[in-house]
Amino acid sequence: MNLSEESAATITGNVAAAMPSVVAALEELVRIPGIAFPGFPVAEVDRARDATVQILRDAGFPTVKVLPIEGGSDAVFAECAGPVGSPTVLLYAHYDVQPAGDESLWNSEPFEPTERDGRLYGRGAADDKSGVVIHAGVLKALLAANGGTPPCTVRVIVEGDEEWGGSLESIVPSHCDLLRADAIVVADVGNLRIGEPTFTTALRGMAAITIEVRTLEGAVHSGMFGGPAPDALMALIITLASLRDAQGDTVVEGLSGFDWDGPDYPEPLYRELAGVIDGQPLVGTGTMSSRLFSRPVASVVGIDAPRVEGAINAVIPFARAQVSLRVPPGHDPRVAQAALAEHLLAHVPWGVYAEITKGGTGAGVRVATDGPAYAAARRAMQQAYGRESVEIGSGGSIPLIDVLREEFPDAEILLFGAQDPAARIHAPNESVDLNELHRAVLAEALFIAELAADVVA
Ligand SMILES: [Zn+2]
Repeated sequence: MNLSEESAATITGNVAAAMPSVVAALEELVRIPGIAFPGFPVAEVDRARDATVQILRDAGFPTVKVLPIEGGSDAVFAECAGPVGSPTVLLYAHYDVQPAGDESLWNSEPFEPTERDGRLYGRGAADDKSGVVIHAGVLKALLAANGGTPPCTVRVIVEGDEEWGGSLESIVPSHCDLLRADAIVVADVGNLRIGEPTFTTALRGMAAITIEVRTLEGAVHSGMFGGPAPDALMALIITLASLRDAQGDTVVEGLSGFDWDGPDYPEPLYRELAGVIDGQPLVGTGTMSSRLFSRPVASVVGIDAPRVEGAINAVIPFARAQVSLRVPPGHDPRVAQAALAEHLLAHVPWGVYAEITKGGTGAGVRVATDGPAYAAARRAMQQAYGRESVEIGSGGSIPLIDVLREEFPDAEILLFGAQDPAARIHAPNESVDLNELHRAVLAEALFIAELAADVVA
């Protein structure tokens, strides 16, 4: 059953009333440079944790506790019970942020929240302190609308080192009872465009490989020896070149991906965000979305070879490259890594010997979208944004999601949030659009109410 118009209107009003406190909480969080990278003060991460605890308490969660994680930053857990028999919803965000990077590239102080043209600027304003305050605002609005009890049991888990390491995965198996839910909302993504409600339903995985070619005991004069001598760098270049075809599509035997059937990613926006230089083409075939979300992409991300400056006329005896593979969602990254290794070794020319070292892998995800939680969330999105929602993929990966899926195979996982493409996450001048933030709170609050209405009916 759908939520009554009257209940939806009450929640809408309560979200609007909660927004000033939501924005104030976000500003407070942005002021804390809680960076979990080595070399940054741990005291600030602890301060961000404590502020998160306080914000969740202020929102009305009767249970808020800190979960210590060995070898990582503390996570924060909160819970507010709904009526007996109501579904349980787990809301995820992370309170740690990326470092500011080169501060001279920021138009305002990275850790001083600054509002310009409807956006709040500051490191973490979008990624992912917006997620923390969305969840807080949602509970506040639901409690006000339902006389002190939310329509579902609402649980919140806020991670403290997502940008560095992501240690939460390690405690999921031992905290199953605490984290178990019928639906899990990961508010660490955003809409395709401002005002266009979007679920992220697929994330690419990744796999890394290092390939090393050693052909001579040392460099030799190319005038005297060049010709028969196997040039290690040339062998490596030819091997790496086999990873792309003439159109620029990645070719790894046994790894294909699929066509994305959701809306296409707008090319002009992509060009702008990726900083593609005017006049340069985009490469590959198929839709933008297929190329970005559901096809494999191999990139050479590092290469060891003599520097151009000081280069001498020599046959190069040793060369090494690191290849990073974005794995189509739904493919096992270890299988993809093995396919990449086999492909590379098969393309080393002239019978030259090369050595492969396998690096890390991360699983991609394709979530099921045909359950009751998605149905409820689509209705909520329609009400919050006044238009139908769309599904996109994401080029990056969130390894935690794979662990959640393993532990809670029956839980529906929904990814939506307030990070639109202009949010410039991880870059200078990160910001969140305050209207998007408002609508994200509304969408999440309505989702929880819609899900409860379904079950009660
Ligand atoms: Zn994030």
